Amino acid sequence: MYKAIAWEHYSAEERARLNAFSDAYRSFLDSAKTEREAASEAERVCRAAGFRNLDALIQSGEPLGPGDRVYRKWMNKSFMAFVIGSDSLEDGMNILGAHIDSPRLDLKQNPLFEEESLAYLDTHYYGGIKKYQWLALPLALHGVVVKRDGDRVEVTIGEAEDDPVLCITDLLPHLAHEQMEKTAAKFVEGEALNLLIGSQPEAGCEKDPVKQAVLTVLKRDWGVEEEDFVSAELEAVPAGRARDAGLDRSMILGYGHDDRVCAYPSLMAVADFEGVPRRTLCAVLADKEEIGSVGASGMNSHFFENTVAELAALAGCEWEMSVRRALQNSRMLSSDVTAGFDPAYAGVFDKRNAARLGRGVCFSKYTGARGKSGSSDANAEFMALVRRVMDDAGVCWQTSELGKVDAGGGGTIAWLCAKYAMNVIDCGVPVLSMHAPWELISKADLWEAYKGYCAFLEG
Ligand code: MN
Ligand code: MN
Repeated sequence: MYKAIAWEHYSAEERARLNAFSDAYRSFLDSAKTEREAASEAERVCRAAGFRNLDALIQSGEPLGPGDRVYRKWMNKSFMAFVIGSDSLEDGMNILGAHIDSPRLDLKQNPLFEEESLAYLDTHYYGGIKKYQWLALPLALHGVVVKRDGDRVEVTIGEAEDDPVLCITDLLPHLAHEQMEKTAAKFVEGEALNLLIGSQPEAGCEKDPVKQAVLTVLKRDWGVEEEDFVSAELEAVPAGRARDAGLDRSMILGYGHDDRVCAYPSLMAVADFEGVPRRTLCAVLADKEEIGSVGASGMNSHFFENTVAELAALAGCEWEMSVRRALQNSRMLSSDVTAGFDPAYAGVFDKRNAARLGRGVCFSKYTGARGKSGSSDANAEFMALVRRVMDDAGVCWQTSELGKVDAGGGGTIAWLCAKYAMNVIDCGVPVLSMHAPWELISKADLWEAYKGYCAFLEG
């Protein structure tokens, strides 16, 4: 089935809007490299767009009515935004759901050590990574240290022009004969992913003088002691900004497109909505998708359902059945990325069912692995509805499977929302080099995702 290349249909005016949206997205990527930073950025965007903090309304008991705009941050790592519709909440919402965590290297609880007069931070990788990709490249450290008294220290090191960066060393090819024989999975072991962070000894210090010198810096710059690592969430991510990619500037190379390239247009589609919608609109940006949506800030937690219950209460739908109906009657796009067809690795894709860069936002009726294991298979009736909505709005869209049937697979948050018996389908942007430190997307697909998400909210 021929699908149009989105670029072929843009007027000069639409190209200008596409470029402005892409530039704003690149800035979002630079200021939102972790789930906490993404949740904070989302809060900033929503406050600027006239959204009020739902927690304050819950406290005051102020009722919610049509056109009201509210947001809620959950544990500083997940985020929800709502525009209340004129229809009853029981009739369901139009939901866009993405995730804002990305693969990275987390610091361990007891990370700091010295060996051979070099100081290191030990890491534990988060999400599905090819470990060898994280060697010999500049890394930054982002996160929080929460001290015993509850004081929170926000840490970002390695992003400013004159900041130092951190690095994991690789073996020189001259001595790598044995290493080069290993499979990629064993090329470097998880336990070897240690960040080199210092090489200068503290004067007059006998035991671990280099580690001591690093501790002196930590104390000086952040007021942090070694014991404080135990109550910290520090994440090593690729250092530096997202960049326009390609001589034609048609793409963006950046860290964490999975899934900020869907989270950002989902958020903006709700934030940019003006007036009073018929159905209540929602963007939910969840944490922990990359490790199975587990934990209190992941989509498998009740935070979303509880928040809908709070909305129902403030909208005057007090009985429990209201919440069940609101969720069951909702429609959702699980806005998550899919694999873009890569000619360099054509063998793992089914050419007729693969997502191409530049051919628009991509629907995956089902995800899962092999015999659709672990998938949420959307209903044909729902697919027909979203197909009509996309076409009517002039959105460039395509369909795909993640790869060949037997090649592997993946999942998203779709199945967790399907638990409520709502209609949900995966819909996102194709990515090249997915889960690599630097991933690639097409600006046209980002733009079509935004258009598609806006159309879904209104349709
Ligand atoms: Mn994803
Ligand atoms: Mn992923």
